[in-house]
Order: sequence, then C-alpha cells, then structure tokens
Amino acid sequence: QQGAFHERYILSGYRSPDYSLAECLRSAFRPTNETGNFWSHFLPLFFFSYRVLEVLGWPLWTYFLGVACLLLGSSLAHLLNAMSLVVREVCFFLDYGAIAAYTVGSSLAYFYYIHPRAGLLDRDPERFYIPAACAVAVVCVLCCSLTRQRWRRHRYLIRTLVFLLPLLVSSTPVFYRLLAGSPYVAGSASWAASAPSPAFFWRHCLWLLVSAVFNVAKLPERLAPGRFDVWGHSHHWFHCCTFLSILNQLHMI
Ligand SMILES: [Zn+2]
Repeated sequence: QQGAFHERYILSGYRSPDYSLAECLRSAFRPTNETGNFWSHFLPLFFFSYRVLEVLGWPLWTYFLGVACLLLGSSLAHLLNAMSLVVREVCFFLDYGAIAAYTVGSSLAYFYYIHPRAGLLDRDPERFYIPAACAVAVVCVLCCSLTRQRWRRHRYLIRTLVFLLPLLVSSTPVFYRLLAGSPYVAGSASWAASAPSPAFFWRHCLWLLVSAVFNVAKLPERLAPGRFDVWGHSHHWFHCCTFLSILNQLHMI
C-alpha cells in the first residue's frame, strides 16, 4: 500500500495513508509534500474567478466551469488523497476527469470565440468537433486511470502524451484561424473583437510544454532526491506552468 503513495525521488514529507477528512484539511496548513500542490491550484481559482467575472458572457461560462473544475478538482485531490488508498484512487480519477472537463470547456470557447470552423471537417463542424472533443476527453480519463494500475514505470510519460491528444483536437479552431484568418468582415466590430492573438496561443503551448517537461523529467528532485520533498518539487512547477498556460489561453480568448 505504501508504494502507491510514494513518488519517485521524493523521500520525505509524506502524510500517513489513514488521514481523516479533518486531518487532510488541516494538512493544507502544514508543510507536507502535497501542501504546495494544493495551494498552487487552489489560490489561482480565486484569481481566475475574479478575471472571468470581469469579462463574463455566455458561453464563456462553459470555459470558466472547465477551468474551475480543473483547479478545484486538482487542489482537492491533492488535499484529500491521504485518507485511504481507495479515496486516493477516487481523488485522482476525479482529477483526471476535471482535466478532461477543462479540455471540453476550452473546445467550446475556441468554437464560439476563435473560429466556428474546426478546420478538419468544414461542413457541419459542430457535428464533429464538440463530440470529438468529448470523446477524446473520455479516452484521456480512461487511459490516465489505467496508468495507475498498469504501465506504472512510464506513467508520467503516458499521461503527458495522452493529454497531447485533446490539445491537438480542441486547438483545431485556433490552427484554422491562424491559417485562414477571421470569419468576420475585416474592420467590423466582430472582426476586431475576434482579432487573433497567436502570441498568446504559442505562449499557452510553451507553458504546457514546460509543464510536461517537469512532469516527465521529475526535475529538480531527480538531481537531489530528498532536497525538494516539501517545497519546489516538479509537481509544484507543473501546477504553476499549467496555470500560466491557462492565463495565456484566457487572454487569447
Ligand atoms: Zn497535480
């Protein structure tokens, strides 16, 4: 049972695997190796809510819900996973589900705000694009959950590659938009409002790439096992980079 709780190169700072709910909640205020993981997605939730409420309009709600799911699901999964092995598995299953919900929310936002043509199939894109985004999200959750039982040696690499798929599928409106330009009449208000911001998109991709490198390479704890047990291990940096990528995505939309 201990093995399931143990991260490679993280030697100490673990909570014992039989915490009650109250102990888990209290552990948010103690230095353990999950404290940073919890706060690095819990605090951005408030910051992000504030930014979205400023500019809110339907259907940006769906995007906001996706991001809120991701940040809340992730922070709670990190906080509560010390209750038992079963709770831990459920926590991370919900965490993957939350990431999948975020990819669907992003797809809807891209569809409405970036380009209504998904690019791959020009006719009736909504018949293919949104269902495809949902199907890919379900496949991601199943694959990531499987890596908790099988292929454990390469689990971080597999999870990272699996989430590359929704990135590619949901970004097709952005690719289409970058290649084909705006669907609106040049100079009109809609055209100005939907002016493409490729810089934000590439920055969004860059931060995702950096977060993937941290997740797979397990840096910096790989270089000095034990030194980054509580603060500064790869998963903290992974959280910070994913949040920066989401911020750039919000600016792009
Ligand atoms: Zn995490």
